[in-house]
Amino acid sequence: MNDYYQDLGVSKDASPEEIKRAYRKMARRLHPDVNPSPEAEEQFKKVSQAYDVLSDAEKKRSYDQGADPYAAGAAGFGQGFSFSDIMDAFFGAGAGQAQRGPRSRQRRGQDALIRLDLDLADAVFGGEQELTVETAVVCSTCHGDGAQPGTSRRTCDVCGGRGEIQQVQRSFLGQVMTTRPCMTCQGYGEVLVSPCFECSGDGRVRTRRTLKIKVPAGVDTGTRIQLTGEGEVGQGGGPAGDLYVEVAVRPHQTFQRRGDDLHCTVELPMTAGALGTTLKLDTFDGVNELEIKPGTQSGDAMTLRGLGVTHLRGGGRGDLIVHATILTPTKLDEQQEELLRQLAALRGEERPEGRMTPAHPGLFGKLRDAFKAK
Ligand SMILES: [Zn+2]
Ligand SMILES: [Zn+2]
Repeated sequence: MNDYYQDLGVSKDASPEEIKRAYRKMARRLHPDVNPSPEAEEQFKKVSQAYDVLSDAEKKRSYDQGADPYAAGAAGFGQGFSFSDIMDAFFGAGAGQAQRGPRSRQRRGQDALIRLDLDLADAVFGGEQELTVETAVVCSTCHGDGAQPGTSRRTCDVCGGRGEIQQVQRSFLGQVMTTRPCMTCQGYGEVLVSPCFECSGDGRVRTRRTLKIKVPAGVDTGTRIQLTGEGEVGQGGGPAGDLYVEVAVRPHQTFQRRGDDLHCTVELPMTAGALGTTLKLDTFDGVNELEIKPGTQSGDAMTLRGLGVTHLRGGGRGDLIVHATILTPTKLDEQQEELLRQLAALRGEERPEGRMTPAHPGLFGKLRDAFKAK
């Protein structure tokens, strides 16, 4: 007597779900479409037999009581064996129940994705942008119908209008009925007597058009703007898909964006750092005055509130953070050198000791910047 539990690799108290799963797993590996070797086919028959018995409550009960429906003398393989069970097990439930009847010529259009390059200023303030897209629009000759005006369609005589063709195939499981879409009418059930000259029957043509897009302030690289119904029009005059505009912000020469804050660096002569000064700074909001306090160090950060990028949600704006770099003077003439030597002498800095700084000044520097920026 065959050991069907062993064939499927399940225990005697396996649930119907477990049995199905075990069979599906084996069928995927052994199905003749996947594995052409004769041993695999032999094994596939074996596990299919096992599944046939164990998946049927009636057969399973009599098998558990000692009667093997496939034992010599019993009814042959294939009797009462439902092909849809195999399809179910192999492809998942519902695989055998493909949509019946002719399919509709109308289809929803595809969504489209297009890139929009922006300058940083456009991201800061938002605004209107023009964008040229190449997309499918409804054919103006046939208005999406696909038939040359004045002509009609006729029922497909290959499939009789059903859009699908049934075939009986012989397999080692016995006769199997399969259904596939009709190639002549592509499953539509009818054929165009004379396809539209303009669009070759597709119902749409490709064209370039220019769109005006409202770009909200605060967008960043990767932000997607959805334009409903601006994608490709559907086949056969079907509804249009959506157009997604993905923003890419060009790098700016001066300003770097971090979140909604903008960062820039100004170089100052040593004297300005020591004595302090007022700078005129070119920002996206025009020329702004920035006060440099006496004693400003390289790496110090100064914040101009509200001059950053607009928050995409909720309004308000980030800050503009200005980092100072103090320049050591080079190419000193005699008088300048003399003055600096006098200064060093006054400050007792002729022979500085070169004090060691902590091992991670970068980290402390960053923390210090962060506190000063708040
Ligand atoms: Zn047309
Ligand atoms: Zn057909």
